[in-house]
Amino acid sequence: MVVVVDTVSATPLRPRHPEKVNRPDAFSPPKPDWIRVRAPNTRGYADTRKIVKENGLVTVCEEAGCPNIGECWDKKHATFMIMGDTCTRACAFCNVKTGMPGALDALEPEHVAEATFKLGLAHIVITSVDRDDLADGGAEHFAQTIRAIRARCPTTTIEILPPHFLRKDGALEVVVAAKPDVFNHNLETVPSHYLNVRPGARYFHSVRLLQRVKEIDPAIFTKSGIMVGLGEERHEVLQVMDDLRSADVDFLTIGQYLQPTRKHHAVMRYVPPDEFSGYEKVAYTKGFLMVSASPLTRSSHHAGDDFARLRAARAARCR
Ligand code: SF4
Repeated sequence: MVVVVDTVSATPLRPRHPEKVNRPDAFSPPKPDWIRVRAPNTRGYADTRKIVKENGLVTVCEEAGCPNIGECWDKKHATFMIMGDTCTRACAFCNVKTGMPGALDALEPEHVAEATFKLGLAHIVITSVDRDDLADGGAEHFAQTIRAIRARCPTTTIEILPPHFLRKDGALEVVVAAKPDVFNHNLETVPSHYLNVRPGARYFHSVRLLQRVKEIDPAIFTKSGIMVGLGEERHEVLQVMDDLRSADVDFLTIGQYLQPTRKHHAVMRYVPPDEFSGYEKVAYTKGFLMVSASPLTRSSHHAGDDFARLRAARAARCR
C-alpha cells in the first residue's frame, strides 16, 4: 500500500507531490481538438470563486485542475473537497497535493452548508482527500457535513464522493447513516492498472464498498466512474461494467484521463468521441439507470441535471 507521510512541515518550496519528484518525465501525445475548453473568465465564474474563497473552502475543481471549471463555475456548480487540501495517498493520475494533512476544521461542515446556501444549489457534490491518518478515515466529518447541509438547505440533494475507507471498519456505515442522496465512489481504472495507477486502493474492496451501500440503504443511488486513455483494453472496460452491475450500481461515468504534470501517468491514448458513445450504448444494455460517457465527462459534471434524470429513470423502472 502506498501511503505518503510527509514528516517535514510544509514550506513554500515543498513540492506538491514529493513522492513523484524523482520519477522520469512521462510524455503524452498532444491534445486533440475535442479536448480543448474555453478559459474561465465569466461573471458567474468570478462570483462562484468569491463565495468559495470567502468561506475558506477547497474545491476539487481547482485542486484537480478540472477542464470543466469554466463551464461549471459559470453555473455556480462547484465540488467541495473537505478535510483539507492534502491527501495521504499517491495516485498516479491525481493532481491533489500529497503529504501529511493538518487537523480537521470543526467548522468546515457549517462553512460548506453556508456556501451551498449562498450558491443556491439544488444539488451539491462533496468529495474529500483520503485521510488514512484518521481512525475513521474522516467518516464522521463526512456525516457532519451532510447533516449541516440538510439543516441549512433542506431541499438541496446531496451527492458524496468519499474515499474507500480501506481498513476503516465501521466507517462506511457512519456515512451511509447520514443518508446522502447519491453515494459516488470511482473505481478510476480497470483492475489490471491498479498497482500503477491507484496503488493504495484495492479494486474489489471498492466494488464491495458500493455494493454494501445498497445493502444497507437501497434508497441511496450509487454511482461510479472510470477514466479511459490509461492503456486499458476494451474488454477490461466491459468487465468493469459487469462488476459494477453485480454490485447494483445505478450510474456509470466514463471520461478521458488527462495528465496533470509530466510526473504523472502518461496519456496512452485520446479515446475518440464515437468510442465513448459505443461504451454508453453497451452500458445501458447492461442495465445501468444512467450513463455519461464522453471525453470531458467527470463524475461531478452536470451532477444536478443528471440526478434529476437518475431519479426519473428509477421511477420509470419501478412503474
Ligand atoms: S466537472 Fe466537477 S470537478 Fe470539474 S469543474 Fe465541474 S464540478 Fe468541478
